Amino acid sequence: MDFELNETQRLIRQQAADFAARRVAPGARQRDIDGNYPAEIIREMGALGMFGGVVPEAYGGAGLDYISFALLCEEISKADSSVRTVLSVQISLVATPILKFGSEAQKQKYLPRLCKVEWIGCFGLTEPDAGSDVQQIKTFAQKTPGGWRLNGRKIWISNGGIAQLAIVIAQTERGNPRKMAAFLVETSAPGFSSRDIHGKLGLRASNTAELILDGVEVPDSALLGEVGQGFAVAMAALDNGRYSVAAGCLGIAQGSLEASVAYAKERHTFGKPIAAHQMVQDMIARMVVDIDASRLLLCRAGELKNQGKPNTLETCVAKYYCSEAAVRCANDAIQIHGGMGYSNEYPVERYLRDARVATIYEGTSQIQKLIIGGFATGIRAFA
Ligand SMILES: Cc1cc2nc3c(=O)[nH]c(=O)nc-3n(C[C@H](O)[C@H](O)[C@H](O)COP(=O)(O)OP(=O)(O)OC[C@H]3O[C@@H](n4cnc5c(N)ncnc54)[C@H](O)[C@@H]3O)c2cc1C
Repeated sequence: MDFELNETQRLIRQQAADFAARRVAPGARQRDIDGNYPAEIIREMGALGMFGGVVPEAYGGAGLDYISFALLCEEISKADSSVRTVLSVQISLVATPILKFGSEAQKQKYLPRLCKVEWIGCFGLTEPDAGSDVQQIKTFAQKTPGGWRLNGRKIWISNGGIAQLAIVIAQTERGNPRKMAAFLVETSAPGFSSRDIHGKLGLRASNTAELILDGVEVPDSALLGEVGQGFAVAMAALDNGRYSVAAGCLGIAQGSLEASVAYAKERHTFGKPIAAHQMVQDMIARMVVDIDASRLLLCRAGELKNQGKPNTLETCVAKYYCSEAAVRCANDAIQIHGGMGYSNEYPVERYLRDARVATIYEGTSQIQKLIIGGFATGIRAFA
C-alpha cells in the first residue's frame, strides 16, 4: 500500500520487501512442490521482530499500527502466501484475541513467546460439521473442580500440526450457544493430538491439521475471557484475521500485476510485445483498478482499527473484495502468460491456487456478503 504512508510505514514496507525478496521468494516454488513448512524463515522472521505485529512492545511485540502490519502481510504474501499464513494466524487469530480478552498473566505468559516465535499458535473454531454455521460446534468443555475437560475435533486448522498453543472454542452447555467459551490449550497436554491434512490446492507450504481433543484437562486459568464470551472471542479474532487475509490477497494481486507487466513487455506476438495488444492491456487495467480498490478498502479498515473504532463491516468489505480481486488478478495473470502461465516456471499459477482459499477461510465470500447485507438492511440472514 502506498496511500499517504508515513515514514515508519514506508520503512516497514521497505524492510519487509527486502526480506521477502532475499529470503522468502527464492525458495517459494520448491517449498510449494515439496509441501515444506518454512520453519527456518519463520524462525528468522521471529528473530528479526517481524512476528511482533500489532502487539505492544511491553508484551514483546513490535507495536505496529495496522497499516504497517498490512504492508508486512502484503509484501510477505507477494513472495509466499504460505509464510504470510503463519504470520496472520500467529498475530491476528491468536495474539490479538489474547491481547483483547486475556488476563494479565495470560498476556505475560503467551504473547512474548508468540512474538519471538518460541511458540507457534493456532486458532481452532471450525469442526467437521460446523464451518460457516459456527454455533453448531460440538467440542464440549465439561467443568471439573478447578478446571475443564475438553472433548471434540477441529478441522482445517492452520498451524494446527506445529502449534504449541491452541485457542479452542467450545460449548459449555449443551444446546446453548450463548455459553460458548474460548480456552488457551497447550498442545503438550495429555489427550491433545493432531493429524496433518495433505493434498491442498494451495498454501501447500503451510501446515493445516485436524485437532483431536480427547479428555484434555485444562485449569480454570486457561479460560480466555469468560464463559459466554467464546463467540465474541472468535468474532474478534476473525475481525483481525480477515484484515490480514485481505492484505495478503493484495500482495497476490500486486504480484500478479508485476509478473504480468514484465511478461507482457518481453513476450512478442504479431511483431510487437503482447503488452501492446489492447485486450492484454484490458486485463492489466482491470488488475490495476482491482489493486487500487483493494488498497483503499484495506486502508479504511486499517485506519478504523488504528483509531479503535468499530470496523467489522469495513473489514468484511475489504476481505470480500480483496480475496475475490486476488483470484481475478491471478487468473488474468495466467491468461497473460499463455501456456507458460499454466506452468510453475512462473509464480502466477501458485498465486491463483493460494488466492483461492481466501474466498473460503475466515468466512466464505457468501458469509461476508450476508454480514454486509445484514449491515445494509438491518436484517440478519443467519443467526
Ligand atoms: C487451508 C484452510 C485453512 C483454514 N484455517 C482455519 C483455521 O486456522 N481455523 C479455523 O477455525 N478454520 C480454518 N479453516 C476453515 C474455514 O474457515 C472453513 O472452511 C470456512 O469457514 C467454511 O466452512 P466449511 O468448510 O464448513 O463450509 P460450509 O460452511 O459447509 O459451506 C459450504 C458452502 O456453503 C455456503 N454457505 C454456507 N452457509 C451459507 C448461507 N447461510 N448462505 C449462503 N451460503 C452458505 C458457503 O459459502 C460455502 O460455499 C481453514 C480452511 C482451509 C481450507
